[in-house]
Amino acid sequence: MLHDTLNETERLIALEDRYGAHNYHPLPVVLDKGEGVFLWDVEGKKYFDFLSAYSAVNQGHCHPRIIEAMVQQARKLTLTSRAFYNSMLGETEKFICEYFGYDKVLMMNSGAEANETAIKLARKWGYQVKGIPAEKAIIVAVERNFHGRTTGIISASTDPDSRNNFGPFMPGYQIIPYDDLDALETALSNPHVCGFWVEPIQGEAGVYVPGSGYLKKAQELCTKYNVILMMDEIQTGIARTGKLLASDHEGVHPDLLILGKALSGGTYPVSAVLTRDEIMLTIKPGEHGSTFGGNPLACAVAVEALKVVKEEKLAENAARLGELFRKRMNELQAKRPDLITLVRGKGLLNAVIIKPTADGRTAWDVCVSLKENGLLAKPTHGDIIRFAPPLVITEEQLEECCRIIEKTLLEF
Ligand code: PLP
Repeated sequence: MLHDTLNETERLIALEDRYGAHNYHPLPVVLDKGEGVFLWDVEGKKYFDFLSAYSAVNQGHCHPRIIEAMVQQARKLTLTSRAFYNSMLGETEKFICEYFGYDKVLMMNSGAEANETAIKLARKWGYQVKGIPAEKAIIVAVERNFHGRTTGIISASTDPDSRNNFGPFMPGYQIIPYDDLDALETALSNPHVCGFWVEPIQGEAGVYVPGSGYLKKAQELCTKYNVILMMDEIQTGIARTGKLLASDHEGVHPDLLILGKALSGGTYPVSAVLTRDEIMLTIKPGEHGSTFGGNPLACAVAVEALKVVKEEKLAENAARLGELFRKRMNELQAKRPDLITLVRGKGLLNAVIIKPTADGRTAWDVCVSLKENGLLAKPTHGDIIRFAPPLVITEEQLEECCRIIEKTLLEF
């Protein structure tokens, strides 16, 4: 049997390949354990995690306080459905609203569901408050956006991989270029527009940071044209970019704040939409929901995950170490301009753009070499490597990681 000759890594990869859908293309490493900034594979090799599960693990792997809150709650009550009240939801909603400064919160599970919720809220508000004629509401979205994988969301995507052969698509979107205020003003002046849906930094697209003042001006335009600013902070929020929210860099308070990922510290799918009463109360009983949304287990982990972010000063750490990381990467680029074309990012959400080598090696091969050297990162869109470690990383650990990246790229 072929399988008898495989090592454990190869055996487990073969199983996924044989029995799982082929909807991802992982690096050839099989992870088994995590703690803080570290991951271990099934062979016992230790790595620095520089992806943090797409920024879901900002608080570090298996944070002891979040795990303890989860285990305690799991022993007591996990799910009642929203058919009844439970002892966790109201307290959690109050905590989350006060934490982010909103009237109300609606909890869901995945990021995509939170975005779907935001779309529904923007449309309801558009019809019931703004007075848009029936079935005419438009949401303005931007090129290169990433908001999730549902058919409603990919209808606004401009990424061919996300859309190909998944149509027909949902109408009601207008797509404009990112970071283009003239295009935004023209679009918002249409009285049928109910929402402007945007990421403050485009994470999945490859960490595109808009020009300074873009978000502030976008908010002003939304106010001017009576349009809801729907900010998808699922990847950028919760301390990743060096502030609690990326919107905070420009003092922007979105009408609709969309959160996910690190809201649970990577322990459990928890997402949420926060907004003011005028918008949230347009949805009535029976009009929206989810069996698991806001369940007691989700509540317990969300509260603890958010407490950890503040008490461990993760935003401050991300801001400080982010500066250090970009400085080191810019110095590296000066040494290898043939290989690194650009370094960009904010806080600990950064990207390095790799130029393919003459013999055809790409960002993928760089990530394989990084893995061999003990650091896990994932390429995106062929030439971009995102570097986003857990925010509990220390300066010494970050220095060590910079040395690994420098060694790998200088030898590449
Ligand atoms: N929105 C943004 C900005 C994201 O980065 C992601 C995931 O990467 C999502 C939405 C989708 O979240 P989920 O995969 O939990 O549905």
